[in-house]
Amino acid sequence: MKLLEYEGKEIFGRYGIPMLPRCGVIKIGDSTDALKIEGPGPWVVKAQVLAGGRGKAGGVKLARTPAEARELAGQMLGMKLVTHQTQGKALTVEEVLVEEACEIAREIYLSVVMDRKEACPSIIASAEGGMSIEELAHTHPERIIRMAVDAESGLLDFQARQLAFDLKIPQKLFHDFTTLARQLVKVFVEMDASLVEVNPLIISKNGRLFAIDSKIVTDDNALFRHKDLAARPDHEATEIEKEAKAIGINYIGLDGDIGCMVNGAGLAMATLDTVKMAGGNAANFLDVGGGANVDQVTRAFQIILKDPKVKAVLVNIFGGIMKCDNIAAGVVEASKKVKLRVPLIVRLEGTRVEEGREILAKSGLKLQQAGSLWEAAQKAVAAAK
Ligand code: GDP
Ligand code: MN
Repeated sequence: MKLLEYEGKEIFGRYGIPMLPRCGVIKIGDSTDALKIEGPGPWVVKAQVLAGGRGKAGGVKLARTPAEARELAGQMLGMKLVTHQTQGKALTVEEVLVEEACEIAREIYLSVVMDRKEACPSIIASAEGGMSIEELAHTHPERIIRMAVDAESGLLDFQARQLAFDLKIPQKLFHDFTTLARQLVKVFVEMDASLVEVNPLIISKNGRLFAIDSKIVTDDNALFRHKDLAARPDHEATEIEKEAKAIGINYIGLDGDIGCMVNGAGLAMATLDTVKMAGGNAANFLDVGGGANVDQVTRAFQIILKDPKVKAVLVNIFGGIMKCDNIAAGVVEASKKVKLRVPLIVRLEGTRVEEGREILAKSGLKLQQAGSLWEAAQKAVAAAK
């Protein structure tokens, strides 16, 4: 689960990580009067979307007066934002954060990620922070610092000091920096994160350290330990994905036009690959789970057909514990219930497959059967054209 900048900063706040004072967060429909904009300014107005690169895309603006900050915040709400991290898609700005701004002397990159190969958290840092760490990693990989951290003991003092030396942190900020770095690792471990990133961590012109951006990605498998996160609305899921989740179906929307209904995540992945190899594109990943009974299949059809892009449905079910004749009966009944508007291709394999195929053949439904996954994928691609 990805957190918005201000949500990440609320967590940083609990760990004493220094940040600039917040004036408020407003949502679409809120009045900009709700923002507490006081003091001499300037202020920074920031679009809260789940993508970086906002700075270059017009999602981060400086305001000199409170009136200007309110005006910018009002303009930003509802705006569509395309950044280099949104894969060409436009994200709607539903929330805006306003903070006090400061003059920046230096921008540093600091993050903690899970190093899967070493099986431990790892700090990634660079003295050259700011907007495009990906580019720096490409052009000057030697300027990126990596440091393995023990999850149990956290960042050790000598490691924090080494990091401060490597990042050329000024002597008088050594203590602030090493504390911050240790706390950041603590956030990573305690939040069950897969990424905690501060880009940039800044040194202000008046010589202080502030985290002025935050990015936290947490591991969904640990959500049971984080009740507050579990209760939070999922900003990333589409409406169809949310509906599927509510009824216990694993569904992820994709860009293609072939709706896929499969039992088991591995078989679903193999189905997507095979559709691709046959020259088509899947409209979704869908795992109906182990049971595949009439109810589940009906619901899965309904979910798949909610996507207007779908031009054909490919059912690929392996009857292991469930027998193919039961599955076939389920598919027939479900197809009648949902009134399929697109061609249906069914491939069954496994226990009692002959009986299953006979049920499908005698059903009177206009469906195509396939003996192999390859044949099914080719038929689905042809049907979707
Ligand atoms: P991102 O582009 O989505 O990663 O958004 P950031 O929060 O990192 O902001 C992008 C850039 O805006 C930063 O690298 C800074 O250069 C600038 N910026 C953000 N906050 C402030 C601020 O308080 N003062 C100044 N002067 N610049 C800021
Ligand atoms: Mn940033």
